Amino acid sequence: MTSERIKASLAPCGLSCEKCFAHVDGDIRRYSLKLKEKLGNFDIYAERFETLLGDPIFKKYPDFKEMLDYFASENCKGCRNEQCKLFKNCGVRGCHQKKQIDFCYQCDEFPCDRTNFDTGLYKGWIMINEKIKKIGLEEFYEKNRSRPRYV
Ligand code: SF4
Ligand code: SF4
Repeated sequence: MTSERIKASLAPCGLSCEKCFAHVDGDIRRYSLKLKEKLGNFDIYAERFETLLGDPIFKKYPDFKEMLDYFASENCKGCRNEQCKLFKNCGVRGCHQKKQIDFCYQCDEFPCDRTNFDTGLYKGWIMINEKIKKIGLEEFYEKNRSRPRYV
C-alpha cells in the first residue's frame, strides 16, 4: 500500500505535483504569497529607489511583480484531484485510474505509448519510474524531497 503522503506529493507518472509552480499548496505558491506580503507597496518604493540609487534595475519591478502575482494565484489541486492544468493531453491520469494502480512503475505495460508526453517529458517519465522500480518508492521520495522540480 502506497503511503498517502507520497501519493499526495507525486503524480501517478512520478513527477512531483507538490513542487509544480501551479500547485495550490506548493512551496512556489506559498513563498510567492509570502514575498508579496513582505513587499507590501514596494511599487512606490521601486520608483523612488530608481531615482535615489540611480539603478535602472528597479524599472523591472512591475514585470517581476506580474510574475510573482501569477505564481501566487495558481490553484491546481494536483493530478490525483483534478485534470492537470499544464499537460491537458496527459494520458496517464485516466489510464492509471482505469487500471487502478497508484503509479506507472507498478504497471505491467510500463513503458507504454499512452502518455502523450513530448520527447523530453517522456524521457523524464521513463527515468523516474525506472529509478523508483530500482530503489523503491520510499527511498526515491526521500532522496528527491529537497530537490527542485525545475533542474
Ligand atoms: S496536476 Fe499538473 S498543473 Fe497540477 S500540480 Fe500536478 S503537474 Fe502541476
Ligand atoms: S499503461 Fe502506461 S500510462 Fe497507463 S498506467 Fe500503465 S504505464 Fe502508466
